[in-house]
Amino acid sequence: MKNILIRYGELTLKGNNRNSFITKLIQNIKYKLKQYKEVIVYKKDHNSLVLEISDGSKVEQISKILQNIFGIYSLSIVEIVEKDLEVIMSKTLEVAMEHSGTFKVEVERKDKSFEISSQELKTKVAVNILKNNNKISVDVHKPQLKITVIIKHNGAFIFTSKIVSSKGLPVGVSGKGLSLLSGGIDSPVASYLTLKRGMQVDFIHFMTPPHTSPEALDKVFKLASKIEKYNKSNFSLYVCDFSMILKELMHIKEESYRITIMRRIFIRIANSLSIKINAQALITGESLGQVASQTIESINVINEVSKLPILRPVLTFDKEEIIEVAKAIDTYETSILPFEDVCSMYVPKNPVTKPKSFIAQKQEENLLLDEIINYTVENLIKTYIWKDGDLVEKQEK
Ligand code: ATP
Ligand code: MG
Repeated sequence: MKNILIRYGELTLKGNNRNSFITKLIQNIKYKLKQYKEVIVYKKDHNSLVLEISDGSKVEQISKILQNIFGIYSLSIVEIVEKDLEVIMSKTLEVAMEHSGTFKVEVERKDKSFEISSQELKTKVAVNILKNNNKISVDVHKPQLKITVIIKHNGAFIFTSKIVSSKGLPVGVSGKGLSLLSGGIDSPVASYLTLKRGMQVDFIHFMTPPHTSPEALDKVFKLASKIEKYNKSNFSLYVCDFSMILKELMHIKEESYRITIMRRIFIRIANSLSIKINAQALITGESLGQVASQTIESINVINEVSKLPILRPVLTFDKEEIIEVAKAIDTYETSILPFEDVCSMYVPKNPVTKPKSFIAQKQEENLLLDEIINYTVENLIKTYIWKDGDLVEKQEK
């Protein structure tokens, strides 16, 4: 049998919310580890969770999945032994015998009823190792091997490494958002960062067939799938056919306002869908000043049509910083595949960089906005559902 010790990190700071956060985290962990449920026993204590894994060969795979679950600060593969000096000495020695080079012992005594002080136990363990393993010496500053012993109420925990995990908050504790997912680099990163703060995410993508290709849509499916490991196991991607609206937008006289108005319509549709799916916020990959449509003036004119808050997690990121995250979460290579999306085809020669609200409104007066938006939301959105991580069902509306 092997044990994985899971530390909650930031959750310990959260006062009253703490219990519900921990409950949610454990729920999320159980869900993501559903396929291993026969081999895992969950043991909860005050600041951590221990997974007892009866099949040692599964530990690596389980630990990989855990590392992507938000709310987990770090984990360690631990030996849990009886709180008995002889047993602790023998187990720590067994661990140290596999190593040569330098080492250090650390002891934490959480169970104060354990009669040996941390300092004393540390010395005893270290001396025992030095006596029996002549390939090893002490280095308290930069040891190659750190053996940690934690005396808890339910046993002595012994481990040699801490795997830093995703941190953040358990997905679901911050409600649900609807992320506007293009095929680009920024919106998957924005979705990931939102998930990190505990908000579960559904996606909406706008496409304009036949101008946008099936490959472009496929890219969006791939991106949603890549983020799945951080998300709720069950989530939806709504694909909105925007072609009819795009045709309508060609009538806008003030060509430079087309992008601004297109974005306002994206946001209106997303608001309308959010009511149906109970989403509490929208999420975009906009970054301040990155392109003409992402100036503060544009952002204001876009915000104006939204009832829901629009979260922009990469607003203050440089492109390189966004790319760094995209590479780390493995969306970058998919994002840079060269397929046109709605915007890249539709950019006017001189998009307005400082749009004015009254001009946008004036341009919109000539469009049958309410009608086309309602029609689109009712008839032109297809829902794709992921269940337990797989795309299982397509609901045609
Ligand atoms: P990204 O890399 O995310 O595509 P971008 O830098 O290319 O972003 P824009 O194309 O100006 O920026 O889009 C800004 C944001 O608007 C995107 O991050 C995304 O949230 C949303 N968006 C743009 N196009 C679409 C689309 N076709 N479907 C859904 N959302 C979109
Ligand atoms: Mg884009």
